[in-house]
Amino acid sequence: MIILKSAEEIARMRIAGKVVACVLDTLRKHIRPGITTEALNAIAEEECKKHGAVPAFKNYPHPRGGRPFPGVICASLNEEVVHGIPRGDRVLKEGDIISIDFGAYVCGFAGDAAITVAVGEVDKRVNKLIQVTEEALMKGIEQAKPGNRLGMVSHAVQRHAEKNKFSVVRDFVGHGIGRNMHEEPPIPNYGRKDQGPVLKEGMTLAIEPMLNMGTHKVYTKLDEWTVVTRDGSFSAHFEHTVAVTDKGPEILTLN
Ligand code: MG
Repeated sequence: MIILKSAEEIARMRIAGKVVACVLDTLRKHIRPGITTEALNAIAEEECKKHGAVPAFKNYPHPRGGRPFPGVICASLNEEVVHGIPRGDRVLKEGDIISIDFGAYVCGFAGDAAITVAVGEVDKRVNKLIQVTEEALMKGIEQAKPGNRLGMVSHAVQRHAEKNKFSVVRDFVGHGIGRNMHEEPPIPNYGRKDQGPVLKEGMTLAIEPMLNMGTHKVYTKLDEWTVVTRDGSFSAHFEHTVAVTDKGPEILTLN
């Protein structure tokens, strides 16, 4: 069941979204060669305390009964797609890219967003991957308005990705969001325009394209969480929490 939110509930989600965006902005400023993903995680944890936010990913149950997620952020480097575990021995270096996914509860509601950032100078095609993934997210968001099918969001993301010769990850999708981090409906980043539920005012969606430079195929590493591309090609990830309103899509995870 897709839970519709009232204007008052969306106002609370706006606050949660703003906090998530602020924390990601702070993290972005710390991304440079030499910093570890564990240090970024510690900054996120500190920022949560400052904002009175409850980190949503820490101790998140493993979907197949493995150990819970240990980090406040997911920090995924290069060929890692999503769910990278922050580690003291993962040091960022020039030419890397890092995707940071961060979710938190504020005022009883969740916010969820992700960014991918280049560490220093990166390869031209890698820069293009980052740029196209963010553009694909924005193209998807543009379609998140009442009366459109969810498939129009998915289709817009896929179309932009493939037009630029990047592939779209199938095995992980976006999601509805509200009092819970993960609600109905699942939001694929591929598919036909005529698929999925018709969007209604009051729906709140976490739209999150993951684009790869090579194959769309991925697998999960032995740490039970980190998802990587099967061919080792680089991957980028952007996400916003969005409300479907009578005036069109409203991005809630903006600073
Ligand atoms: Mg998400």
